[in-house]
Amino acid sequence: MNSSSIEYVDVLIIGAGISGIGAAYYLQTMQPGKTFAILEARDEIGGTWDLFRYPGIRSDSDLHTFSYEFKAWENEKAIASAEAIMAYLRETVAENGIRQSIRFHHKVISAAWSTSAARWLVEIERVDTGEHIAMSCGWFFCASGYYRYDEGFTPEFPGRERFKGQIVHPQHWPQDLDYRGKRVVIIGSGATAVTLVPAMADTAGHVTMLQRSPTYIVPVPSEDRIANTLPKLIGRDRAYAVTRRKNVAKQRLVWRFCQQYPRAARRLIRHLNAKQLPAGYPVDEHFKPAYNPWDQRLCAVPDADMFKAIRNGRASVVTDQIDTFTERGIRLRSGRELEADIIVTATGLNLLAFGGISLSVDGVPVDVPQKVAFKGFLLSDVPNFAYMFGYTNSSWTLKVGLICEHFCRLLAHMDSHGHTTCYPRLPGSTPTRPLLGVTAGYVKRSVDQFPRQGVEGPWRTSMDYRADHKTLREGPVEDDNMCFGTSPADALEPALTA
Ligand SMILES: Cc1cc2nc3c(=O)[nH]c(=O)nc-3n(C[C@H](O)[C@H](O)[C@H](O)COP(=O)(O)OP(=O)(O)OC[C@H]3O[C@@H](n4cnc5c(N)ncnc54)[C@H](O)[C@@H]3O)c2cc1C
Repeated sequence: MNSSSIEYVDVLIIGAGISGIGAAYYLQTMQPGKTFAILEARDEIGGTWDLFRYPGIRSDSDLHTFSYEFKAWENEKAIASAEAIMAYLRETVAENGIRQSIRFHHKVISAAWSTSAARWLVEIERVDTGEHIAMSCGWFFCASGYYRYDEGFTPEFPGRERFKGQIVHPQHWPQDLDYRGKRVVIIGSGATAVTLVPAMADTAGHVTMLQRSPTYIVPVPSEDRIANTLPKLIGRDRAYAVTRRKNVAKQRLVWRFCQQYPRAARRLIRHLNAKQLPAGYPVDEHFKPAYNPWDQRLCAVPDADMFKAIRNGRASVVTDQIDTFTERGIRLRSGRELEADIIVTATGLNLLAFGGISLSVDGVPVDVPQKVAFKGFLLSDVPNFAYMFGYTNSSWTLKVGLICEHFCRLLAHMDSHGHTTCYPRLPGSTPTRPLLGVTAGYVKRSVDQFPRQGVEGPWRTSMDYRADHKTLREGPVEDDNMCFGTSPADALEPALTA
């Protein structure tokens, strides 16, 4: 293709999920002179919140921290349905004229940085027509989430083909699935399983959650009384800001309490669980994990809905291992057989770094696991590349705003100094560790595909909003580790070809 016919934008955002839409908002607000586009593989915005269609799909974060700082969450429910989150995102897109910048059905396949041209050449597949097209950009901003959209994770279950009923994965939920009066077994114990149990229990004959090992499950109120009262007293926007600060502080407190006093945290969660369960219930068998609270993400259940379903006999929990699927259900290692009409494999996601996009720098493929995250949004020795990865120990989106602000300040800094390129340069002896610290099985399975992080300073990916606030919102964009170039050729240090 003739390079002059290739469309150029200053910033190309990949993904129109909550992160990509946030990036577009900040760019057009803080850097109105920059051109940008959002490339989205699917035919709708929202990413996660549009993809998953299983019964009861909802957040487990409170929406006062999961929504954007710039747009108040006004719904009475603090723990919100995907539908309510989608309505909020559609409103954000409409209010800020962002939809016109989104190219749907545009799946990014590869991106090649050319130092001599100081830009990325991006290969795109039009998912609707199969056509391949190209675009180029000064900055490549990857807001592609962290997992595969085409396929959820399902382990190999022996005897799976013998089962005569229906097997469903929550990531591919058949919209016409009729589970009225049916016996449903949900395999898993993560956020999806604990959402599905109460959502299906009213209609199904009985729902059994089959888990190999327990997870921490914490009842939380679905509504925030302070958030719902304050607007009448101090106005919507101030009330939202106050609630957000309150919830950030609460999340941090809970996280730190769990980290510093794991035994006390365990006891407290057990107490909360036991209070919700019938007398004599084997709490420890089903609700006492082997790990400490927040070593893996806690599962929140709004208004204790899952415990209610257990209390009223519509749902139960079984902790055991699968021996084999049978014609009628699942035989367990203990010898017990769980009969089922429908088996739901709530067994997780397949993680995927940077939307599976192949990156290269001056013809050399970027070996992502060899790269090190800088300030949690740039990659060592990869020029003009930014990415969005939110918090895993509190609301993902809290980090989106901070990264976007810092990114926009970085662009302003570069403009004011006439720089066209920048990248963080990893000092030779920097010790590194995996980027994703959580010990959940699905993270362990895929952690090697992701970049790494350092152990301190800007090379460490912080999971602490307050620390990030200092670094990203208040801190300088200049850094001893950052290399800036004022013309294409002069940003070229040997590191780029390493
Ligand atoms: C069921 C579920 C519930 C969750 N609940 C919470 C919660 O309560 N709180 C919380 O903090 N986090 C939660 N998370 C994590 C959640 O995914 C994030 O919080 C957030 O929604 C991620 O937004 P995102 O925009 O970064 O990514 P996504 O929502 O994954 O969106 C990424 C977008 O990028 C597009 N894309 C990907 N690759 C390409 C490509 N190559 N080319 C073009 N487009 C591409 C995708 O199609 C998608 O639209 C949940 C996750 C799941 C799966």
